[in-house]
Amino acid sequence: MSQQNPVFIPGPTNMPEEVRKACYVPTIDHRSPAFAKILHPCLANVRKILKSDKAHVFIYPSTGTGGWETAISNTLSAGDKVLAARNGMFSHRWIDMCQRHGLNVEIVETPWGQGLPADRYEEILAADKGHQIKVVLATHNETATGVKSDIAAVRRALDAAKHPALLFVDGVSSIASMDFRFDEWGVDIAVTGSQKGFMLPVGLAILGFSDKAIEASKTAKLPRTFFDIADMTKGYAANAFPYTPPVGLMNGLKLSSEMILEEGLENVFARHHRIAEGVRRAVHAWGLNLCAAGPEVYSDTISAIRTPGGFNATQIVTHAASKYGVAFGVGLGEVAGKVFRIGHLGMLTDVLALSGIATAEMCMVDLGLDIKLGAGVAAAQDYYRNTTTA
Ligand SMILES: *Cc1c(COP(=O)(O)O)cnc(C)c1O
Repeated sequence: MSQQNPVFIPGPTNMPEEVRKACYVPTIDHRSPAFAKILHPCLANVRKILKSDKAHVFIYPSTGTGGWETAISNTLSAGDKVLAARNGMFSHRWIDMCQRHGLNVEIVETPWGQGLPADRYEEILAADKGHQIKVVLATHNETATGVKSDIAAVRRALDAAKHPALLFVDGVSSIASMDFRFDEWGVDIAVTGSQKGFMLPVGLAILGFSDKAIEASKTAKLPRTFFDIADMTKGYAANAFPYTPPVGLMNGLKLSSEMILEEGLENVFARHHRIAEGVRRAVHAWGLNLCAAGPEVYSDTISAIRTPGGFNATQIVTHAASKYGVAFGVGLGEVAGKVFRIGHLGMLTDVLALSGIATAEMCMVDLGLDIKLGAGVAAAQDYYRNTTTA
C-alpha cells in the first residue's frame, strides 16, 4: 500500500508537495551568487515570521536541539546561572543540556500540564539582587503536554524585577503556527527547527538573536565551533556558510516561508486555532480530558489527551500505526502511557484533521474504550461547519 495518510505527530509534519519538490535541487556551487538568492530571502522571511524588525537570524544544518546549543554556547560561560521551569519533556531536555554544559540551573519544578510560572520567575528574579542569573529559559509550547505558556508574562516578570537577564524562548513547536512576537515580547533568542511549523524535512535549526544576545556572545566563554555565530555571521556576509550549506533544505525554506507569509501570519494562526478547537471538541465529546490544565494554556499545535486510568495510551499509537497506517504521538517522560498526542500543525486543514479524529476514535473503540464511534467526529464537524476558515 502506498502511504497516503497524513501524519498526526507533532513533527516532522506533513509537507506540501511543492515544498517537497523545492528541497530537491540539482547540485549548485554554494559559493556562487545562486546561493545568495536562496540565503538572503530565507533570513528576511524568518525575521518576518518571528515578528521582528531587527533580529539577527541564524540557520544551521541541525535540529531544534542544535538550536538550543547555539543559544547557550554562544552566550554563556561555565558556571553561569540560568533560570528554567520544568513542565514537560522538552523543557527538561533543555535544562539537561545546560547542566551538561556546566551551567548552574535553578529549576522551578512545575506540574506537567501547567504553563510556565511567571509569578515564581518574578519572585526569584527580584530576589537575585546581584544579577547572578544570566538567562531565563522559556518553552513557549511544551510539545509533550500540549501546553502553551505566556511569554509576554515572562517578559513582564523580568521587567518588574528590573532584571537584565536574557530571555531565551524555545518556539520549536509554535513559531510559524502560533502567534510569536520576538520584538514585542523582548525575546533575546528564539529557537525553532525546520520540521514543524515550517513544513520541511528535519535538518535546520533556525534562530533569532537580539542585539543584546549578540553582545553577550562577545564575552561568553563556552566552547563552540560548529555553532559559532561569529563564523556564521562572516559566512553570511560572503553569501555563504562557514561550511557546506544544505542547499536543498534552504531552497525549501525559501518557498515554505514565502507560503506562510503569503497566507498571512494571522491567517496561519487562525487556521491552527480553528483546527485545534475542532480536535478539542472531539476530545470532550469522547469524555476525555487534555493533559493541559485549562483553556488558557491549550496549545493550538498539539493536543495531549489523557486516557482512562489503567489503560496504556501508547497502545493507541501502536494500533493506529499497524492497523490504519496513521501516526500519532506517544506520551513522553512523566506522562508516558498516560497520554497520546495528536499533532495538528503545519500543512493541515479541517478535513485532514477529521481523518485523524476518526482514526483515533476507531482505535479507541478497537481497544475497548467506552467511546461511541462518530461522537468526536460529529463534535468536530459541528464546529467546523459553523466556523469559517480565515
Ligand atoms: C521538537 C521539539 C524540540 C526538539 O527539536 P529536534 O528538532 O527534535 O531537535 C525542542 N523543543 C520543542 C518544544 C519541540 O517541540
